Amino acid sequence: MRIHFLGTGAAEGIPAINCQCNHCVRARAEGGKLVRRRSAILFSLPGYELLVDTPPDIKTLLRLNGVQAIDGIFLTHEHYDHVSGLAEFAYWECKVDLLMERNLYDRLQQQGVTTRVQETAFHMACRPGVALRFDGFFLVPFAVRHTVPCFGLAIYAEDRKIIFAADTSAELTHYARRLTQGADLLIVNTPFFDEGGNDHLNVVGAIRWKETLDIKGMVLTHINHHNLPHDDLERYVSRFENVQVAYDGLTIEM
Ligand SMILES: [Zn+2]
Ligand SMILES: [Zn+2]
Ligand SMILES: [Zn+2]
Repeated sequence: MRIHFLGTGAAEGIPAINCQCNHCVRARAEGGKLVRRRSAILFSLPGYELLVDTPPDIKTLLRLNGVQAIDGIFLTHEHYDHVSGLAEFAYWECKVDLLMERNLYDRLQQQGVTTRVQETAFHMACRPGVALRFDGFFLVPFAVRHTVPCFGLAIYAEDRKIIFAADTSAELTHYARRLTQGADLLIVNTPFFDEGGNDHLNVVGAIRWKETLDIKGMVLTHINHHNLPHDDLERYVSRFENVQVAYDGLTIEM
């Protein structure tokens, strides 16, 4: 199984539009891993390419990362940075499965997000806590706390359990805790370093989560310009075992 972090920025990406903070100024000047486009992850599962989220940058992300095959798209929630690139799939040559929770799909239809992909994307309704079985692997979507209904994903493939916690707050449900216990890999959205209110998990909280739930490895993604720049964040996490900071284009083989 391969996990490909196509984009790793939070809502505004880095550099953020019109922002003159040190992080954004450095990102414009130095480029490289300091630049983060909005978040999308491609999971290459046995016989199935699953894209998680379609940010506004999706067309560029697919081109830069050389992605030519997608079988299914899973959308986590209705925020702009996660769904606004879906319309680009009106031009995708092959049809795709569109996996998401039923009420989320209804909301996106009301907002017109799915209008342009009626012909190319077939909605497959997911239920939180109910396994979606494929041949050789399965997915379990689960609800997390956020400002709007939001769903993470537990992926069971090749004797591994990978948890993608999406835009969860630090206030985890008992269900999410239990599901995450002992995971081989936990991928978390950490826009902020040690703040972020109740809407998001931050880096400090995520590392605490990893340690209390006996998680083997963790990757931080969905990082915003108020967080530390990539090099400083990498230096900080190096004191913890098996914690990695994602960057645009990172691939992990499991
Ligand atoms: Zn987000
Ligand atoms: Zn900035
Ligand atoms: Zn969000």
